[in-house]
Formats: sequence, C-alpha cells, structure tokens
Amino acid sequence: MWPSLIRVVNAGIDGRSKVPCLTTASKIERGFEGDGVAMLIRVHPAPMYATNCWVIAAEKGSECIIVDPGMPDISAEIEMIIEEEGLKPVAVLLTHGHLDHTFSVIPLADGYGIPAYIHSEDRRALLHPEIVHGKEFIENYLQGTTWSEPQQVLELRNNEKFEAVGLDITAIHAPGHTAGSLIFTINDEVLLSGDVLFAGSIGRTDLPSGSQDAMKKTLATKIAPLGDHLRVLPGHGPDTTIEYERRTNPYLKELRT
Ligand SMILES: [Zn+2]
Ligand SMILES: [Zn+2]
Repeated sequence: MWPSLIRVVNAGIDGRSKVPCLTTASKIERGFEGDGVAMLIRVHPAPMYATNCWVIAAEKGSECIIVDPGMPDISAEIEMIIEEEGLKPVAVLLTHGHLDHTFSVIPLADGYGIPAYIHSEDRRALLHPEIVHGKEFIENYLQGTTWSEPQQVLELRNNEKFEAVGLDITAIHAPGHTAGSLIFTINDEVLLSGDVLFAGSIGRTDLPSGSQDAMKKTLATKIAPLGDHLRVLPGHGPDTTIEYERRTNPYLKELRT
C-alpha cells in the first residue's frame, strides 16, 4: 500500500451536481454546452493516486499541451488521446515536482522532442525526488530507480506568460503544497490548480517543502483574487469552478472570517 500524497476532504459531496462535472465526462469539446470553455480538454486519471493528466488544445487537430503526466508510465494512454484528436504536442507543463505528476514526463517530452516546464523551486525534484517526498518514501517504494530530467527543461517563475498552441497561458507561483507549486490560467477560462486547490479541499502541506503558512498566503493572494467564472481543473478529483469553491470550500470560506 503506497502512502497518501493527497488529502481530499469533502470532495464530491452534496451540491456538487450543480457544477456540471467535466472530469467524469473525460472530454470537453470546443463549445461545451453552457460552460463557456472554448477549448478541447481531455483528461486521463493516472492509475496511481488518480492524478489527472490533462491534454489541452484550442481545438481538434491543433497543437496541444500535456499537463502532469503521472504514475506509472502513462505515455501510451496519452499518446492514444493525442492520436485520436489529431493533436501535435508542443509542451509538457508540470504543476509541481511530486512523482504522481511528473513520472511520465521523460517518455512524453523526449518522445515528442518537446520541453517540460516546471517552477525553478521544484525543478530539483526531477533529479532528487526525496526533496519533495522525503528519503523514506523513495527508499521504501522506489529504491533503485535512477532519476533524470527530460532533455529540455524550462523553468517558470511567478506571472510568467506564454502563448502556446493558440492559448494564452499564465503561470502563477502558488507555494504551500510544495515550494515550487504552480497554477496556470488558460485564456482566462480555465485554471489548472495542481494540488493547490481541489473541489471542496486543498492540497496537504505536511510533505517535505510544504508549508501551511505559505499555503494560507497562496489562498489569500493567489486563489482569492481569481475570477468566479474560471473552470478549475485540479490535480486530483472532479473539476469545479472558482465561484463554487469560494462559496463552499471550507478553506476559502475561512479566508473571509
Ligand atoms: Zn502533490
Ligand atoms: Zn498529486
């Protein structure tokens, strides 16, 4: 039994049905009815830890980004999605350095000859995962594994904007779950929230490089100012919206008291 890397409290409880859930549908076509999200979004939850790996493109047949390819090696499944949609990958985005989000980065980034983007603080975790998992975790569960980086790694910092695949992407540094956690807005429609914000919960802060104080500050200064309209695509569990989380998520409600 692998130890828990995530903590999802209250996810999927009553009222969730008011937010049309896209993750269970596993596919959002351009112009998905009523949600205002005009892009192609596919999700593949990885077998271990059910980490959501997102494939996002402006539309079928265009260039795409791959977000958080997890554990074990899920590159074949992601390649299948890419083929089905006729997409051309141009980048792998990593919300943070935990292995359940980065494990398949090498076969995908090097396989397609594309760069992987990660925050400078979490980049070290690609070569030294014990920095974010602790020595014990690596020794107990992944002993003997050799760690390396994809051929092209590009570091991101707070508020870095880049245009890729016809999508406007902004990286926001959101430490707390790990020191180098990032969240991304896409076209002011979607928020990739990594393990910072989940439907009904937040990411745990007790793993190495996590910090409860940093998380509180992130929630107050990086999450709270976000627009209600944003569709939240989290690292684990169902998707949600900022509006719904602001109203119901105990960790966001707490900010107002
Ligand atoms: Zn994590
Ligand atoms: Zn995770």
